[in-house]
Amino acid sequence: MQLFDTATGAVAPLIPRDGRIGLYVCGITPYDGGHLGHAFTYHTFDVIARRLWADGINVRSVRNVTDVDDDILRVARDRGVDYRALGDRETRGFERDMADLGLLDVDAAPRASEHIDEMVEWILRLVDRGAAYRVEGWVYFDVASRPRYGSLSGLDPMAMLSLSRQRGGNPDDPRKRHPLDFVLWQPSLPDEPRWPSPWSDGRPGWHIECTVLSAIELELPIDIHGGGDDLIYPHHESEIAQAEAAGVHPYVRHWVHVAMVGYQGEKMSKSLGNLVYVRELLDHVPAATIRLLLCAHHHRTAWEYDPGELARAQSRWSAYLAAMDIGPQFTATDAQGVYDDFMACIDDDVDTPGALSILDEVASRSTVPGRVSGADVTSAQLIAPLLDVIGARVAAG
Ligand SMILES: [Zn+2]
Repeated sequence: MQLFDTATGAVAPLIPRDGRIGLYVCGITPYDGGHLGHAFTYHTFDVIARRLWADGINVRSVRNVTDVDDDILRVARDRGVDYRALGDRETRGFERDMADLGLLDVDAAPRASEHIDEMVEWILRLVDRGAAYRVEGWVYFDVASRPRYGSLSGLDPMAMLSLSRQRGGNPDDPRKRHPLDFVLWQPSLPDEPRWPSPWSDGRPGWHIECTVLSAIELELPIDIHGGGDDLIYPHHESEIAQAEAAGVHPYVRHWVHVAMVGYQGEKMSKSLGNLVYVRELLDHVPAATIRLLLCAHHHRTAWEYDPGELARAQSRWSAYLAAMDIGPQFTATDAQGVYDDFMACIDDDVDTPGALSILDEVASRSTVPGRVSGADVTSAQLIAPLLDVIGARVAAG
């Protein structure tokens, strides 16, 4: 399999070590339901994992839960609920959504709140090595200590500054030596959860959470680390800096990012209120239809959802089901050719639109009732294992 690597800007072969691949995907901050943008991201990594499993590669899949950060604490405060109760409820809902979408279970779903001690240790190491500094009860990462800061995103400092401002990085914080320095540790406000540290009773910054959780759960370097492409800067850029400054180099072999999903002319986001929740779709259509809707888009191309897309995915699913209902249509040689072509698409940087066009072709050929002379493979025998690779289960339909 070949995957586009954000760090090099090129497609590169994914080479397992001892038949194994470690996969770390940044999970949600559990304060709201999962939407179609989340589904597109986690579906993409699920297809990668399923394809690798189909080749007998042992995938260890990790998806963290960011249950301590500014967003969840703000929402918990606004609603007057405990952040843990909010996090538990939303995490359960999200896991149910992903399971109902037919995603494989992850092997570990570490929560930030359960590994604060390890985060404090990592921050201590960064301070010892001169890559972090303390101001009052705060600890910041010193980006000037990393000349390559910005190399993952390819952004210059002005572009990073602008994004930092948009994405809550608070570049105007007067305690910072450099506006792009980011928080590793901060004192907790009176109504926020707190953990002891050498600097203050406080809580970790978001970026250090993922670096530490990934290093706890997976062998380094991590084979695939990814998430939505809005995480490239600052989150993943900062993760690389923290890991390398602590002596972990290389930290990640492939950075894989999934493009954003829009709706009504804007990126789907909580703040804009233009969300299409996974649960709403699951209430109306089979999970397989949603998987086909997602597969119709390449993971590196941003797209905009509209209900017409869902209707097209539904008719596609109906065509596949109809094709699977009729007699043998393919010779063993034909079937092997289709199988190989389909897998070649997935292996080519997860080209799911290409893979669907192969299934469409199978469906359009599967129109003659009864056995085609000389054929002994049914469309169902041919299609079912291919649908399994993209997570579209017949049983769920
Ligand atoms: Zn992360």
